[in-house]
Amino acid sequence: MGMADAKQRYAVVTGANKGIGLETVKGLASNGIKVVLTARDVKRGYQAVEELKREFGFSDLVVFHQLDVTDPSSVASLVEFVKIKFGRLDILVNNAGISGFNTDGMVSVHIFFYTLSVLFLSILKSFLKNDLGFLFTPGFGCHPKINWKELPQTYEMAEKCLTTNYYGAKETTEAFIPLLQLSNLPMIVNVSSEAGLLKYISNEWARSVLDDTENLTEELIDEVLKEYMKDLDDGLLEKKGWPTYLSAYMVSKAAMNSYTRLLAYRHQKLCINCVCPGSVKTDINRNTGILSVENGAASVVRLALLPNGSPSGHFFTRQEVSSF
Ligand code: NAP
Repeated sequence: MGMADAKQRYAVVTGANKGIGLETVKGLASNGIKVVLTARDVKRGYQAVEELKREFGFSDLVVFHQLDVTDPSSVASLVEFVKIKFGRLDILVNNAGISGFNTDGMVSVHIFFYTLSVLFLSILKSFLKNDLGFLFTPGFGCHPKINWKELPQTYEMAEKCLTTNYYGAKETTEAFIPLLQLSNLPMIVNVSSEAGLLKYISNEWARSVLDDTENLTEELIDEVLKEYMKDLDDGLLEKKGWPTYLSAYMVSKAAMNSYTRLLAYRHQKLCINCVCPGSVKTDINRNTGILSVENGAASVVRLALLPNGSPSGHFFTRQEVSSF
């Protein structure tokens, strides 16, 4: 066991080499928390740590350790690292996540046509020289935003999405619970999404299972996810009342939300909440979000720093408690 400093607080942030995760590390470190910045890719992780040190000089407050949340041996090795180095864990931020789509092609197609049309319209405008100029300002009519409804989702992508967003967070959490239980204020923040609210799942069986915290078990969540994958495979998503766009992402976050409630119910000493950071400009949505990463991460950091006796088992939309 490491030599834990009673006053120092220790945190782990998953998926922290960029986006909301990286900004959460900054927020925690600037509050004096010792943070393990984790990334599945070692090079990207070290680069992020170096960048933080150059920009903010967080020196010994930020350390790096590899973590791929979908790889149990990677999770085990991180837990061992934290155990040896700090002896306990105070804050776990489950932030790592994927959209479940390959948005690359889709966005470049949009950007390609957008660029073409802007070019075409500016040439046209120079010929016309009339007062219809406002029609030709970039962004009018043909915006390079992602049309999520058009994005195809294969079985493999959906599976990877559930494995990362739900099972990854769940297995990381389970592995850290013994070290969290050594903290006098154990905190878990699950970075979720409003896309996972139960109102988007019209499959009544799934919704009632996920909403019944008292009787919920990990096995029941597994059953819901298995049924979802089966219906996806059989082409029955719409018929069976599952979300039909951003589908696996929504289901993965719904599972994460229910798991949060289950854990809060089971471990009364834990403070565990989930939060939708809002629509944030990051790679996950090809920077089509509205809020800055600073703004998005602020909601996560606020929950990670809640004082003793704070609410647990809640879903927050940014700073406000909202309904599951
Ligand atoms: P992002 O910039 O794409 O960051 C996602 C992070 O997760 C990256 O560091 C990525 O690592 C990491 N990751 C992916 N798979 C992983 C794995 N198997 N193991 C470990 N790390 C993994 O997107 P973001 O917006 O910051 O997303 C962070 C969280 O916020 C996600 O859970 C997302 O669902 C949630 N969220 C975001 C928004 C939004 O508007 N941006 C809204 C609601 C919720 P690589 O760099 O190696 O890919």
